[in-house]
Amino acid sequence: MPFELKHVNVYLLRDGAHFTLIDTGLQTEESRQALNQKLAALKVPVDRINRILITHIHPDHFGLAGELRERARAELVIHRLEVALMEPRYARAEDLVHDVAEWLSKNGVPPAEAEFVKTASMAAREFVSVVEPDTLLEGAERLPIDESELEVVWTPGHSPGHCCFYWPARRVLFSGDHLLPKISPNIGLHPQSGADPLDDYLASLARIRGLEIDQVLPAHGDPFGDHRERIAVIMRHHDERKAALVNLARDGAKSGWQLAGGLFRGVMERNVFQQRLALQETLAHCQSLAVEGRLRKELRRDLVTWKAA
Ligand SMILES: [Zn+2]
Repeated sequence: MPFELKHVNVYLLRDGAHFTLIDTGLQTEESRQALNQKLAALKVPVDRINRILITHIHPDHFGLAGELRERARAELVIHRLEVALMEPRYARAEDLVHDVAEWLSKNGVPPAEAEFVKTASMAAREFVSVVEPDTLLEGAERLPIDESELEVVWTPGHSPGHCCFYWPARRVLFSGDHLLPKISPNIGLHPQSGADPLDDYLASLARIRGLEIDQVLPAHGDPFGDHRERIAVIMRHHDERKAALVNLARDGAKSGWQLAGGLFRGVMERNVFQQRLALQETLAHCQSLAVEGRLRKELRRDLVTWKAA
């Protein structure tokens, strides 16, 4: 991928005479070629794929879904909360840009910077085509596969309708972006997120912790074991970040933008895309702290501020 994160993993599961694909990669020539070559090497013609499961609709996971579904005549399966995000994000992005501009100013981003930051993810559109899914998920479904079952585990947080796919017979979890070996996925509060995405995320992590898993197969990075240890590390990371924010908010009310500047010093100097992620991530932590009662979230008509309770 032409991003900081270089690769996305997609998984091909044998299902009798057919195959199920989990996630698709970006809609770019390089990504298309890579997938075609792997399928050819495995001697799997694309029309043997009869089902495509999507963990969430970010471009690296969902980008090629439209054309693959066309080519393979496969059933496209996505959580229903993701479907609602598709149109505004990829087809009517101008409306979303308007919402984002309002949201940036409410969170203290100065007008000059807001001008750049608001369009930071517009470029993502070219890596995706919008397509109607065939089957909608809510979570907890059991999907037949190869004489056993895949369980859908709804794991909101990184995205409102993110799903993991758990294969109990093999003690394997396809974790999407929910649980990654090296990085913690971006959890952000923004116009398209859940209302308290960090608490959603932590609750979904706790759900995954209870599963019997030998191997986690993530969307980025290498497969790994000991999911409970990895989950403990990630939970600690968010605890520390929350404690740091409470500290930053001790000497008076601050906007999300000011707090992000304190929390992510280096990141904020990199580029507008990183700045926007840092702001979203900061706000997700602030929201969780406000729900817990450790921060006071003060709302005036056109500005949200946070201060230690
Ligand atoms: Zn993602």
